[in-house]
Amino acid sequence: MRDRELYAKILGLPEPWLVVDVELDVAGKSVVVRLGRSADSTLACPECGRSCPGYDTQPRRWRHLDTCQYSTVLEADVPRCSCPEHGVKQVKVPWAEPGSRFTALFERLAIDWMQEAGRSATARQLRLSWSEADGIMQRAVDRGLARRPETLTPVLGVDEKSFQGREFVTVVCDLDGGTVLHVADGRGSEALKSCYEAMTAAQRDAVEAVAMDMHQPYVLATQKALPEATIVFDKFHIAKLAGEAVDQVRRAEAKKLAAEGDDRLKGTRYSWLRNPLEEDAQQRQEFEPLRKSNLKTARAWAIKETLMDFFRYSQVKRASDFFRSWFSWASRSKLRPILRLAHTLKSRLGMLLNYCKWPITNAASEALNSKIQWIKYTARGFRSREGYRRAIYFHCGDLELYPQSF
Ligand SMILES: [Zn+2]
Repeated sequence: MRDRELYAKILGLPEPWLVVDVELDVAGKSVVVRLGRSADSTLACPECGRSCPGYDTQPRRWRHLDTCQYSTVLEADVPRCSCPEHGVKQVKVPWAEPGSRFTALFERLAIDWMQEAGRSATARQLRLSWSEADGIMQRAVDRGLARRPETLTPVLGVDEKSFQGREFVTVVCDLDGGTVLHVADGRGSEALKSCYEAMTAAQRDAVEAVAMDMHQPYVLATQKALPEATIVFDKFHIAKLAGEAVDQVRRAEAKKLAAEGDDRLKGTRYSWLRNPLEEDAQQRQEFEPLRKSNLKTARAWAIKETLMDFFRYSQVKRASDFFRSWFSWASRSKLRPILRLAHTLKSRLGMLLNYCKWPITNAASEALNSKIQWIKYTARGFRSREGYRRAIYFHCGDLELYPQSF
């Protein structure tokens, strides 16, 4: 088989395209495959498909999958046609999407690698510049979002994700499907509003419940855009707030005790913060005397641990009775951080009680969270928030990313 026929075969070129030449550059370790069109072929406008007269041709190059150890490039003079309606347009080629300098098969390969290894590693392994790899990812996400069907998702999770320390994006996910639906810049009301605005009216109407942190901008944006949806505060976020209150009590008390030569609280921070259900026998044994002591920290800790029982009730009346007695205990504690926590929770009691009917939390998207952590780690400092958002869509959006090809 001659080289031209070989390449025509492995490229699977459809009519009227054919291989006119194959050039092997041994020193440069590359193969250049020249493509042309059969002389009698007609040209079609890429916009309307109508047959149009030719205008001129433009030389183009595309990087293709390597031929063994040789990098491989396709070259063609691509005709432009003159459409009476759309003007002068370059005709579509079957091996690449308009505007790309890579063949569709090469982009598929790069997409597969980026899903496994991230953008930077893929760029190194496939000898792409970072911005070329980024361009492939960007086109993949754009086409994935454009193709995404209009699915209805009754249960949403809203969360903020940090990067580069103090920068944030807002992520809206489908808690049932475990996929990211929208990503917006920042963590204010506007950010979440823009996510809701990206949904269709039917999609907004279909939302029944939204899990989120007790973050007022998110509450306001949700009440405004989804007035019928139930807002449910994430119980792990509440556990975190309660843990911070205990930690404030511990820090103040540890300082006071240390001044009196008592170092019982030294190095105990994580003992107070960890989930007792996850302790091993030794941790429990060591921690037991402290927990049962008459220290203020032990009292704060007991109040916090008891609070978490609130989330076991499925009846609003019982949960509400429980909260009342917990609140009265917490407010008699004379521990300021605990008092503050109790009042914050009381002012949001209505939404806290929504958990009885909708026991949802953002931890349902735990797999998603670890993926986003991985994205952050593999990217090691995004050049822009836009790049971070794009990578979240790429890895967590369950999108159809591949380009069309022959
Ligand atoms: Zn046209």
